[in-house]
Amino acid sequence: MKTILIIEDEQDMVLGLSDALEFEGYRAVAASTGRQGVVLFKAEKPDLVILDLMLPDTNGYTVCEELRRLSRTVPVLILSARSQESDKIRGLDAGADDFVAKPFALGELIARIRAILRRADHARATPDTVQIGESQVHLAGHLLLRKGRESALTFYEVETLKLLLERAGQVVTRDEILDKVWGVSAINARAVDNLVVKLRKKIEATPDAPRHILTVHGVGYKLVC
Ligand code: CA
Repeated sequence: MKTILIIEDEQDMVLGLSDALEFEGYRAVAASTGRQGVVLFKAEKPDLVILDLMLPDTNGYTVCEELRRLSRTVPVLILSARSQESDKIRGLDAGADDFVAKPFALGELIARIRAILRRADHARATPDTVQIGESQVHLAGHLLLRKGRESALTFYEVETLKLLLERAGQVVTRDEILDKVWGVSAINARAVDNLVVKLRKKIEATPDAPRHILTVHGVGYKLVC
């Protein structure tokens, strides 16, 4: 049974989420502060974390960074009333894998969690290393090495790279990336572009003049190893 850690101080939200997750066959554990969340993360070794941004003792970004120090691979989904673009970017920078704005439809959130966990399972089942230009990418370990420098890869960065790798040399449309990686068609298409900007900073020698993750204008992206 998969364990999902909820770090959230609003008790109604925790109860609603726990019920819905348990109904879906997951085991839910909850922490009401950031500090308690980190303790439970270590003790319970969850398969996924749902993290609120506004916590009584600290903010979710700090908690997310701490969780990332403890594990590069456990998916973290930020849940927050703060849905400004800058908040999303800051959350993704802190190592979160997804960002869901409150209020949200419970069904959609559960669908997204199911999709994240399915892909995390798939990722564990296919451990491998690939070379992209000067970068050595450890897909299972969420790690990229380039000229002796190590960068952590987020869950969605790894999944996007896998999709581009499967179809190396061909164009993959933004819609297809959204559909296959995020598993939700309603999400902002800019999520893909923002993610590619970050990936290029890790992979490309000159991110502004990419040689490996190429833009095909008006369509999508193409990977050239
Ligand atoms: Ca809160």
